[in-house]
Amino acid sequence: MAQKKITYRTCSFCGRSEKDVTYLISGLDGNICDTCADQAYMMLDEMRNTKEYGAPSVLNMKDMPKPATIKAFLDQYVIGQDDAKRYLSVSVYNHYKRLLQKNKGDDVEIEKSNIIMVGSTGTGKTLLARTIAKLLNVPFTIVDATVLTEAGYVGEDIESILTRLLQVADYKVPEAERGIVFIDEIDKIARKGDNPSITRDVSGEGVQQGLLKLLEGSVVLVPPQGGRKHPDQKMIAVNTKNILFICGGAFDGIEKKIAQRLNTRVVGYNAQRNVATIDRENMMQYIAPQDLKSFGLIPEIIGRLPVLTYLNPLDRTALRAILTEPKNSIIKQYIKLFEMDGVRLSFDEEVYEYIVDKAIEYKLGARGLRSIVETIMIDSMFETPSEQRAELNITLEYAKRQLEKMNVARLQSA
Ligand code: ADP
Repeated sequence: MAQKKITYRTCSFCGRSEKDVTYLISGLDGNICDTCADQAYMMLDEMRNTKEYGAPSVLNMKDMPKPATIKAFLDQYVIGQDDAKRYLSVSVYNHYKRLLQKNKGDDVEIEKSNIIMVGSTGTGKTLLARTIAKLLNVPFTIVDATVLTEAGYVGEDIESILTRLLQVADYKVPEAERGIVFIDEIDKIARKGDNPSITRDVSGEGVQQGLLKLLEGSVVLVPPQGGRKHPDQKMIAVNTKNILFICGGAFDGIEKKIAQRLNTRVVGYNAQRNVATIDRENMMQYIAPQDLKSFGLIPEIIGRLPVLTYLNPLDRTALRAILTEPKNSIIKQYIKLFEMDGVRLSFDEEVYEYIVDKAIEYKLGARGLRSIVETIMIDSMFETPSEQRAELNITLEYAKRQLEKMNVARLQSA
């Protein structure tokens, strides 16, 4: 009996037979062996690291979202904070303009206008930054200033801020070089005291000095994996000239400094008018660069953050709106969660008022709204999926009962 001839497939790249390779992947009209696949991968990787491949996509003025469009977008997610929204929208728009202008090689050079946003914790600084990131077509990252220390001390080097941006840009340097960085908790690097001679201020003024270099625009060597630099690590050179920095901080107690400044100025013939127009409930709106200096930011840093804006404390009306109005409000999220179980969830209007009352009573702010809703809903979320029900209405009585069952102290630490 004639033996059936076995036909082996071969690699379309190196020609080796499948019996001589570890693995052969078949495509429509050809095959590739493991060695060739490895090589192809390496070639691709090399190409990705070249300048050409990393060159940023072309921006043009026509496609740029206008400030009003940016603000309208922010309005869908963030309640109030009109001033901060306007400043942010204009700065981001101008950032785009600078990038475009650079391409044309004009004579008049538009200077970068980094932003600093001041506002109590939980008023929406990070939310604004995150929301604007959704709209942008440049790399964007959020970093926390509290982890930074002066080179040589425990903590992260200042350059690691740019590591995150590089990672977001897929290590394409030209792309990262036009990105936007949000530095959160900038107030935590304020100078710790007026007398620098006692101990070195390695997480305060030292960091500010380091940050200055980044803000003013220079070529910085960035550790690709972040953390601490070490001698064997290959560094990536990044020019920060076109990177826009947005800083945010709570600056706890800065209202006192603002009040002091305003009070000391209340002398002279128009003093009476000044006093009459000051809204003592919201001092933040009068913030000026010199208040940041009194708080402990060095003048050079303040000079590099020319756009100063503030966020209002959230009042009752704002908290009520936050609960239901934003595009992905907490209540909308719960409705969606129940909808996935086929249940139509609704709340009595008084429940919303009750939630806001509790958030105010226990000074939980906007962050607390979520924990309160969570506490009210936890039992229903546990039970409803196993029940056959099409609707669930949360009444005030039910909400009260659920919240009273729970130790409020737990909410306060949330
Ligand atoms: P911070 O000012 O401390 O950066 P966040 O932006 O992190 O505050 O706000 C915390 C949470 O509170 C947000 O995730 C959001 O759910 C809610 N929140 C705060 N402020 C607002 C606002 N103005 N509009 C809508 N939600 C807000």
